[in-house]
Amino acid sequence: MKRRALLKYLSAVPVGAAVTPYAGFDLLGGQASANARRDYFSELGIRTFINAAGTYTGMTGSLMRPETLEAIQATAHDFCMLDELQEKVGERIARLVKSEAAVVTAGCFSAMTLGLAGILTGEDEKKAEMLPHLEGTGMKTEVICQKGHDIVYLHALKNTGCRIIMVETADEVVRAINERTAMLFFLNVQSDQGKISHEEWVSLGKKHDIPTMIDIAADVPPVENLWKFHEMGFDLVCVSGGKAMRGPQSAGLLMGKKKYIAGARVHMPPRGFNIGRGMKINKEEVIGMYIALEKFISLDHKKEFAQQQAQVDEIIKMISPVSGVRTEVKVPPLGNVTPTLHVFLDPEKIKIKPTEVQSKLRSGSPSIEIAGADEEKFVLTAWMLKPQQEKIVAGRLQEILKGI
Ligand SMILES: *Cc1c(COP(=O)(O)O)cnc(C)c1O
Repeated sequence: MKRRALLKYLSAVPVGAAVTPYAGFDLLGGQASANARRDYFSELGIRTFINAAGTYTGMTGSLMRPETLEAIQATAHDFCMLDELQEKVGERIARLVKSEAAVVTAGCFSAMTLGLAGILTGEDEKKAEMLPHLEGTGMKTEVICQKGHDIVYLHALKNTGCRIIMVETADEVVRAINERTAMLFFLNVQSDQGKISHEEWVSLGKKHDIPTMIDIAADVPPVENLWKFHEMGFDLVCVSGGKAMRGPQSAGLLMGKKKYIAGARVHMPPRGFNIGRGMKINKEEVIGMYIALEKFISLDHKKEFAQQQAQVDEIIKMISPVSGVRTEVKVPPLGNVTPTLHVFLDPEKIKIKPTEVQSKLRSGSPSIEIAGADEEKFVLTAWMLKPQQEKIVAGRLQEILKGI
């Protein structure tokens, strides 16, 4: 973290709140060099923008909180043994999320691959070395998934060498289960797209003695989701660290049963005979993830939500008087749970199209990204805005919509 970037961040934070993180940053001491004054993005000719879109990987996800950046800075000056770090941080994280065990992974996708690999091989290094070639090894080869839960990220599971068997009903699950079945996979964000509920999925797993995994990548908040699914009986829970939790963008968590986490770790660096070697995560990210999680859990989540709501309201206040503008706030029940503003434009009254609004926001100064636009509306959120940026977004939108 460069002092300049930190100051830029802090300048957007109320004065009182800025005191502590800044004081902590004196840790930098003599380290703050001339580089601290460099603006790398402008040197490189890279556009930065106000993020009124959300936590998109393509937009570099989220911004780490000062506490996380401080933790990264403070731990970057010393060596430690990676396994010892993962062991001890894992224990702390497990306590925070009320699971048996946990490990910091290189994102939710990586947690899915490693978790399934751990189920397939246990702690057997010989078996780990064979992945992704499973045929003829005696290892299991199939994962069962509901049709409605089939999104691109299933590739994380296929990376182990497993095939995905698609089902729709509980009867089909029972018929699909055989001696090759390794795991039952559930995707929380699509739980309304499947016929089988969380509880039923878990009980099918328990009845047939097959481990269950749930992907809750973008489903935090609500914060309770961090422990709810262990309590429900899922054996493994995978979550992204760099979405709303604002940990390192390259981090995530695999949480759950001790034996599977121990198996997953056989596939992780420093070991290199495995499919997980490329999913390396170093001390700064491990500790950064831990501190981001700790901070996230300790937040007043009602207040956070109210703040996002207030920022969206500020934008509505500025643009709704414009003739032909209709606004609607929706809170998705699953995934990206934040007030999401849909702005509908009446083509009879407003000349500009929603997609043109999006490109004007993007090409303006400062540049602003929103979540999306189509023929009738554009969509934005406030949860990745810094305090006060909603005023800039609102002002810019008002100009564009009024055709100024
Ligand atoms: C974002 C996402 C992932 C991938 O998570 P990373 O942390 O980026 O690896 C997996 N599944 C779902 C449903 C997601 O939204």
